[in-house]
Amino acid sequence: MKIVILGPPGAGKGTYASRLTKILGIPHISTGDMVRDEIRRQTDLGRKIKEYSDKGELVPDEIIIKLLAERLKRDDCKRGFILDGFPRTIGQAEALDRISGVDLVINLNVPDNVIIARLSNRLICSKCGAIYNALTLKPKKEGICDRCGGKLYRREDDRPEVIKERLRVYRRETEPLIEYYAKRGLLKNVSCNDIMTPPEVMVEKIIKVIREAERERNL
Ligand code: AMP
Repeated sequence: MKIVILGPPGAGKGTYASRLTKILGIPHISTGDMVRDEIRRQTDLGRKIKEYSDKGELVPDEIIIKLLAERLKRDDCKRGFILDGFPRTIGQAEALDRISGVDLVINLNVPDNVIIARLSNRLICSKCGAIYNALTLKPKKEGICDRCGGKLYRREDDRPEVIKERLRVYRRETEPLIEYYAKRGLLKNVSCNDIMTPPEVMVEKIIKVIREAERERNL
């Protein structure tokens, strides 16, 4: 199944997608992770896109669409995928329709206070990319990844002033996608109103919605 997870920054897209990938057996593709990887490896592309990412702005459509199209060509995407952080503009959604199509869009509804609390306490593993939270999803040992022992860090774009800009960009560029996909009958909403809701509970809710869509539309 070709799944898109939609929602503002800090809605939990990456956290849930990294768990869903194991349950569903299809790859989790995060364009944000791809962007950070290019920047970390200091590739030509990485140097070009660092400025956008650091400021909380979107990388231009033509660059990100090309990156994603290449990724979707790989064999592991044949049975489907879970997209996290793509599409983020109508232009990207139209490109995705052309490249591969979409079966289901899960829209995560999360209030602003939860988003801000999440992002300002988020910790990422520098080695494997696992996501933690200093308030709600603490690692067993402070500053160290439970999974791989890597060092945890705070993302450059999780600073308060950049968070504000990312939310503005989300409302302006990405929120219109809710209507875009609702009109096509592809959208299902899943809400999380309490920051303390454990990821497992949300993942269970999402799996229920996926099974529902499979039954309704013979996917
Ligand atoms: P994320 O981890 O999804 O919050 O993405 C981090 C940053 O990478 C974003 O703030 C953008 O600068 C860039 N980025 C990731 N995905 C996209 C996308 N689909 N379109 C444009 N820029 C993106």
